[in-house]
Amino acid sequence: MTQNSVDYDLLVIGAGPGGYHAAIRAAQLGLKVACAEMGNVGGVCLNVGCIPTKALLHAGEGIRGAKHAEDFGLTFGEPKMDIAKLNGWKDGIVKRLTGGVSALFKANKVTHLVGEARFLDAHTVQVGGQKVTARSFIIATGSEPANLPPFPVDQQKIVDSTGALMVPDPLPKRFLAIGAGAIGLEFAQVYHNLGSSVKVIEFAPQVVPAADADAANTFAKILRKQGIAIDLGTKANGFTERDGELHVELEDVTTGEKRVEVYDRVLVAVGRRPRSANLGLEVAGVQVNERGFIGVNKKMQTSTPHIYAIGDVVGNPMLAHKAMKEGLVAAEVIAGKKSEMDVVAIPAVVYTTPELAWVGLTEAEAKAKGYTVKTGNFPLSASGRAMTLGDTDGFVKMISDAKTDLVLGAHIVAPHASDFLSEVGLALEMAATVTDISLTVHAHPTLSESVLEAAENIHKQAIHIMNR
Ligand SMILES: Cc1cc2nc3c(=O)[nH]c(=O)nc-3n(C[C@H](O)[C@H](O)[C@H](O)COP(=O)(O)OP(=O)(O)OC[C@H]3O[C@@H](n4cnc5c(N)ncnc54)[C@H](O)[C@@H]3O)c2cc1C
Repeated sequence: MTQNSVDYDLLVIGAGPGGYHAAIRAAQLGLKVACAEMGNVGGVCLNVGCIPTKALLHAGEGIRGAKHAEDFGLTFGEPKMDIAKLNGWKDGIVKRLTGGVSALFKANKVTHLVGEARFLDAHTVQVGGQKVTARSFIIATGSEPANLPPFPVDQQKIVDSTGALMVPDPLPKRFLAIGAGAIGLEFAQVYHNLGSSVKVIEFAPQVVPAADADAANTFAKILRKQGIAIDLGTKANGFTERDGELHVELEDVTTGEKRVEVYDRVLVAVGRRPRSANLGLEVAGVQVNERGFIGVNKKMQTSTPHIYAIGDVVGNPMLAHKAMKEGLVAAEVIAGKKSEMDVVAIPAVVYTTPELAWVGLTEAEAKAKGYTVKTGNFPLSASGRAMTLGDTDGFVKMISDAKTDLVLGAHIVAPHASDFLSEVGLALEMAATVTDISLTVHAHPTLSESVLEAAENIHKQAIHIMNR
């Protein structure tokens, strides 16, 4: 197929973070680009993911902050939340941001095609009622919540993450989150801060199973101290509804012991599955694995070389910034640039207060890779800045290779950890040593100094703690 006989150089399917980054970068590089979207531009992240959850967390944090303020003598009386206003404020932020993506499409001359896309052959896609041809394609169709069959989602009493975003009035008195990953824990804190009694259950023996064990355990301890109940090694078998109450059967996975607890709302947050069915991938020769994820190489090419795939539909970690980076790589490769997905580490964050944030290897991963691991810790209780914020629960754990002094990872439990985690991401990309971090002047007083002190603790030279 010659370039002149096609409608577009590139058709991107899906306008989530992966898709809209790819479309805009390809247009910046001079390609004629269209982006097909069957829902709202911005995808899961802007509409029902990253952004609305952070808005609710911030609102809940306001309530917690008001209670905290009593410590320094500021009292407001009992906080009252206007739930309709809260939902409206959150929806307004989403609207502004998705409007922004549409404006960026226009400004970059990306054609927005409305409708569900499906391959008719390897160079033709049906979008809504029209057939569109292109020289290259990027599949960025994302993911959807995985279901848990005994808990069919009705978005009222049994909700997935999308249903949980619409805070009901009155609030559920008793809220259960099934799954202690980022989504389960973020909603747990939202509902807890708003006033529900909250429990989170997790099948695995630690919260956020992918995180460093020390960090995850410290984090769980702090959440419990705030009043969020967490039952680890626990699964939910099913429920019966009586008089509007949900009687949920829980089981201890080690002892097999069963118990029934009563809730008003249950969130199913047990993971996400790729949206790769109904795309006509068979006719385009694009292979998926047994779980439905599309296989790609470092250039983000699928088994059909002119068709690329990015974001949640290609697999873990299912994070917006991973999708964005892969989108840029795919667009650059299609535009003829030498680009590939060659990153040292992708940061991960749970946006509660405190945040759990990490980048690079966990201690267990570093040991498994054969490094001679050194660790350095710095507790927030020794941070002047943390004291001035009234939030001294948390720590920074830095991991390095004893032989080379190279930084291997950092695991942070602290307010706003995500804002100073990027320092360690840059260190990893630049192959910085622990000494490089120690030699970097960090502003005082800041929470980011905790990274400096954790690094110095590796060399037993932190100033504000005893170096054990
Ligand atoms: C509650 C929640 C909170 C989250 N918080 C964070 C966070 O704080 N930070 C973070 O990094 N990640 C977060 N995530 C994950 C993040 O949302 C995803 O990793 C990210 O959205 C993936 O981007 P994507 O471009 O791959 O796909 P998506 O955002 O899923 O977008 C895919 C788009 O493709 C469209 N589409 C699908 N099929 C078709 C088709 N056939 N034709 C046309 N259009 C189609 C869909 O309508 C959708 O708009 C969160 C997720 C959830 C659910």
